Amino acid sequence: MQKTFTYPKFDFVPPPELASGQPGHYPVVVVGAGPVGLSAAIDLAQMGQRVLVLDNDDTVSIGSRGVCYAKRALEVLDRMGCGDKFVQKGVSWDVGRTFFREDEVFSFNLRPQEHHLRPGMVNLQQYYLEEYLLERCKQLPNLEIRFKNNVIAVTPEEEKATLRIETPGGAYGLSADWLIVADGARSPIRTMLGLDIEGKIFMDRFLIADVVMAADYPAERWFWFDPPFHPNQSVLLHKQADNVWRIDFQLG
Ligand SMILES: Cc1cc2nc3c(=O)[nH]c(=O)nc-3n(C[C@H](O)[C@H](O)[C@H](O)COP(=O)(O)OP(=O)(O)OC[C@H]3O[C@@H](n4cnc5c(N)ncnc54)[C@H](O)[C@@H]3O)c2cc1C
Repeated sequence: MQKTFTYPKFDFVPPPELASGQPGHYPVVVVGAGPVGLSAAIDLAQMGQRVLVLDNDDTVSIGSRGVCYAKRALEVLDRMGCGDKFVQKGVSWDVGRTFFREDEVFSFNLRPQEHHLRPGMVNLQQYYLEEYLLERCKQLPNLEIRFKNNVIAVTPEEEKATLRIETPGGAYGLSADWLIVADGARSPIRTMLGLDIEGKIFMDRFLIADVVMAADYPAERWFWFDPPFHPNQSVLLHKQADNVWRIDFQLG
């Protein structure tokens, strides 16, 4: 397998609460250093707020996850100071084509006029997005991130939330005026608090294949329904950075 990305390893730094034995208090705590938690933390820090981010992992997201970023997401990345880097590394595209069996049945162009500041869409592997967001975090002195800090309990109180956190150096507590829970789709904290998500879910299985291939095909999104190479299912093709072609096969 050809390697196109080296996952960073972030060190565990013992927090001051472990040495003092006293729970700290913070105006805003964000749980989760994924795209949502990091974006919320950057936005707040840029507005002058002191923010503490806690994440139980020590690297960026593993494997092939989020791929496509639309104009609104690109505007948000610009606001957070990451837009240029993101667009330079990513694969810009405007044209999408849809096929039924072997025939093209539909196509669209998201940027009919050329003078737009940003492309219609940019494809980039999620680990790059997280790396760029983390780089931005480091530039903000009022933003602190603690890796390998696993939030194991949350107690909402009248004016604050109290947290219990497990680390390789031991457990500690802290409280926050505001707690932003960005701990992912399976959200352990939502489960701890007995909360649910309202909305519709789409049950299906997909095989996601990242193929490293230097090829001259256009950077377009291609979507097939019932193609001869995968009958009765759909297939989605996207070009990503580093000549990685992402293919999503619907398995049913
Ligand atoms: C296989 C796969 C394919 C995907 N493909 C796409 C796609 O094509 N397009 C797309 O838009 N999206 C895709 N997604 C979804 C996308 O990855 C998520 O929407 C995105 O990661 C959500 O970001 P987030 O910040 O909300 O959560 P996450 O990225 O899940 O981040 C949550 C963070 O919280 C941390 N955490 C969790 N619990 C705790 C705790 N108790 N204490 C401390 N830290 C904690 C986790 O370690 C993690 O770092 C895919 C996801 C998967 C798994």
